[in-house]
Amino acid sequence: MSEASFFPPASIWRIALPVPLPRLFDYLPPAGAGEAGDPVGARVRVPFGRRELVGWVAEVGAPEPGTDPAALKQVLARLDPEPLLHGELLESLRWLARYTHAPLGEVLATALPGPLRHGEPLPDTHAWAWRLTEAGATARPGLRAGKPRRLSDLLDEHGELDEDRLDDLLEDWRTAARALAKRGHAERLAVPATAHAPAPQPGPPLNDEQQAAVDAILATPGFTPFLLDGVTGSGKTEVYLRAIADCLARGKQALVLVPEIGLTPQTLARFRARLGVPVHALHSGLADGERARTWAAFARGEARVAVGTRSAVFLPLREPGLIVIDEEHDGSFKQLDGIRYHARDFALVRAKALDVPVLLGSATPSLESLRNAQAGRYGHLRLLRRAGTAQPPRVRVLDVRKRPLQAGLSPELLERLHGELRAGGQALVFKNRRGYAPVLLCHDCGWTAHCPRCSTPLKPTPMTVHGGGRRLQCHHCGTRRPAPDACPDCGGLALQSQGAGTERIEESLAARFDEFPVLRIDRGSTQKRDALENLLAQFGTAPGVLVGTQMLAKGHDLANLTLVAVVGIDEGLFSADFRAREKLAQLLIQVAGRAGRALKPGEVLLQTHHPEHELLITLLSGGYHAFAEVELAQREAAGFPPYAHMALIRAEAQQVEAANAFLAMARRELQQAAAQRGTERSALEINGPVPAPMPRRAGYLRAQLILSAPQRRDLHAALDAALPAIYAAPEARKVRWSLDVDPADL
Ligand code: ADP
Ligand code: ZN
Ligand code: ZN
Repeated sequence: MSEASFFPPASIWRIALPVPLPRLFDYLPPAGAGEAGDPVGARVRVPFGRRELVGWVAEVGAPEPGTDPAALKQVLARLDPEPLLHGELLESLRWLARYTHAPLGEVLATALPGPLRHGEPLPDTHAWAWRLTEAGATARPGLRAGKPRRLSDLLDEHGELDEDRLDDLLEDWRTAARALAKRGHAERLAVPATAHAPAPQPGPPLNDEQQAAVDAILATPGFTPFLLDGVTGSGKTEVYLRAIADCLARGKQALVLVPEIGLTPQTLARFRARLGVPVHALHSGLADGERARTWAAFARGEARVAVGTRSAVFLPLREPGLIVIDEEHDGSFKQLDGIRYHARDFALVRAKALDVPVLLGSATPSLESLRNAQAGRYGHLRLLRRAGTAQPPRVRVLDVRKRPLQAGLSPELLERLHGELRAGGQALVFKNRRGYAPVLLCHDCGWTAHCPRCSTPLKPTPMTVHGGGRRLQCHHCGTRRPAPDACPDCGGLALQSQGAGTERIEESLAARFDEFPVLRIDRGSTQKRDALENLLAQFGTAPGVLVGTQMLAKGHDLANLTLVAVVGIDEGLFSADFRAREKLAQLLIQVAGRAGRALKPGEVLLQTHHPEHELLITLLSGGYHAFAEVELAQREAAGFPPYAHMALIRAEAQQVEAANAFLAMARRELQQAAAQRGTERSALEINGPVPAPMPRRAGYLRAQLILSAPQRRDLHAALDAALPAIYAAPEARKVRWSLDVDPADL
C-alpha cells in the first residue's frame, strides 16, 4: 500500500517543477491516487500561477507543520502509470541537482528529451511494416499499372515490408500505401525494431599495449574508472570497441560519449561496422522525436549501444555494462549555461551508481583525470606507441620574428607547403580564428571597428571582418553589420583588414597555389551537419591544402595528410585564464596528431614569435606529460583545481551597481554561512565582486564572485546554507545571475 492511500487527506505530493526556484512545490494528490502505486518519479500536470506545468513527483509525505492542506492546489493529472524516472537515473539526477545547487525540476527538464519534458507519452519504439490484406491479395492481379500496383506486387513478393525497406524500394510509396489502405487492401502493423545490422567485421589484431588495456578492463566488471592515456593514433578506439563487444556479449548496454565535433559519420560507420548491432547516435542535430524514441529504446532495454555528445549522459540504462568517454579532456563535455554539468564527471557518478567500468580516453588527459590516475583513484592504462605502422610526427618550430608575413604565413612555411604539395601530399594549416581578419583599422586616423555592445577591461572588443572585408561580426555577442565604406571618424577611405583569420589564409593560399585545391573548414563553411563530410569527400586524397579551426583537430582520419602547420597560437601563451595553458597544450598535441596517421610519416610546423616560450620548450622536448607535470605543480602552488574546488557566481545587469550589489550580498551570506559552520577563513576563499573577463557583453554589465576551497565539502556546505537567502534577496530580482560549480574558466 502506498503512503498516499495510508494517510489520504494529510499526505501531499512534493513536485519538482522546471522553474528557477530552489525548492519543491506541495500539491494534493489527484483523485484516486491511492490505487495507482508509488508516484515518485512520475510526471504530473499541475496548475502553477496562471499556467499549467509538467513536473515530477519528487517526494510523498506529510505537509510541513503549519501548512493547511486544504489551501493547497491539486495535481491535475498523473501522466505516467509507471514512473518515467526511477532507480539509478533518478537518484543520480538528484545528486546532480545537489551538486550543481540547481532546482531539481530544472535538472530533470535538462535530462529529458523535449517531448518527454513536455508531458508526451513514452514513444513507441516499434518499427512499422506493411502487408496486403486478404482482399488486397485477391484484388492485386486486377490493379492498373501504377504506384499502388507496384506496392501491391512488392508486398505480395515479400509478404511484409518495413517502412525503412520501402523507403529504399519504392519512391513515394506512402501515397500508394494510403490509397491501398483506404480500400482495405493493405494494413500497417507494428513490428519489433529488429536489428538490420551487418555482421560484425573483425578488427586488427591488438598490439601488446592495447591487449593489456583490454585485459585490465575486462578483468573488473564492477565500478572501476580507467584513464586510457594513449598518444594520438595509438588505437584507443580499438580498445573501446573490444570492451564494448565484450559488454554486448554479456547482454549489456554500452554508452559512449564523444566531443561535439567527434561524432562524425566516419566514427559512427566504424562503430556500426564493428559491433554488429544498431548503434544509436545522439547529437544536437537530432529531431526531438528521434531523441525521445532513442531514450525510450534504452529505457526499455531494447537498444544496446549509444554514441552521443554531452547530453547522451542522461540516457537511462536498464542493463548497463560500460561507459566510455572519448577525448575526456574536451571542453564540450561541460555545459556552459542552464544546468552547468560536466558530462564526464556525471558519467563517473552514474558508473559508480550502476556499478560498471568507466573508460576515459585521451591523448591529452585533463589535469583532473591525470591527477586522479596518479593518486591511484583511476586505473592508468597507457598506450605509448602509434598503432599499426604509423610513426609519430616530427615537430619543428619556425621562428617568425622579423620575417615578412603574408596572411600571417612566413616564406619558410609557404615554401614547405608548396614542396609538400608538389610531392603529392596533403597539408593542413591550422588557425584558431575564423573570419577574414580580426580587426578593421583606419590607416589614416587609427579608428577600429568595435562592437557597440561588448568590451574587455582594457578596450572595446574589435569586430571580426568577414566576407572578404564586406561584413563585420562580433564573436562574443553575434552582432552583425556591413563594413563601412569610409572611416566613420575621419571619412578616409584607407580602411584595412589587420591580421588574418581562416578566410584570409584560404584566399591567400588559393591565389598562390592555383594548381592545387584549397579548402576551408570552420564553423562558417560547415553550417550544415553533412557539409563537412561532403567537403572532405570532395577533397579526397589528392594533393591540396585544408585551412581550418579546431573543428579539424580531431575526428577525421585523413590518411594522406602529411604536413600540419600551426599558426597564430601566440596569444594563447599569455592568457590570464588558469586553464588556458592546458587547453593550448592539448590543442597543439591534438592538431599535431592529425599528421601522418597512416603510412606516410608526418611533419608539424609550429610558427611562433616566442620560440623560447617555456610551454613550447617543455611540450616539444618532453611531450604532453612533461607539460602536465609542470602545470600540475603550478596549479598546486597557486591553489587551483585539481588541488582546490571552485565555484563562480556571475551577475549581469544593465547597471554595474546592480550586479555588484547582488554579489556583495551573496558574499555576505556566504561568509556568514561559513562562519556559522565554524569554517576557518582559509577553508573558503571568496574573491570579488570583480569584473568578469568580458565585463560588458551584449549590452549587459557583468561581474563575478569566485569561491575556492581546498575541501569540496566546505564549498558545498557554504553554498547550501547561503543559497536560499541569495535566491530570496531583493538584490537578486535586479540581475540575471548564475552559479557554476567547477567552472571551465573564470
Ligand atoms: P586513437 O583512437 O587512439 O586515435 P584509433 O583506434 O583510431 O586510434 O587507431 C588509429 C589507426 O590505427 C586506425 O586507422 C586503426 O584502424 C589503426 N589501428 C588501431 N589498432 C591497430 C592495430 N592493433 N593494428 C593495426 N592497426 C591498428
Ligand atoms: Zn579614420
Ligand atoms: Zn558584441
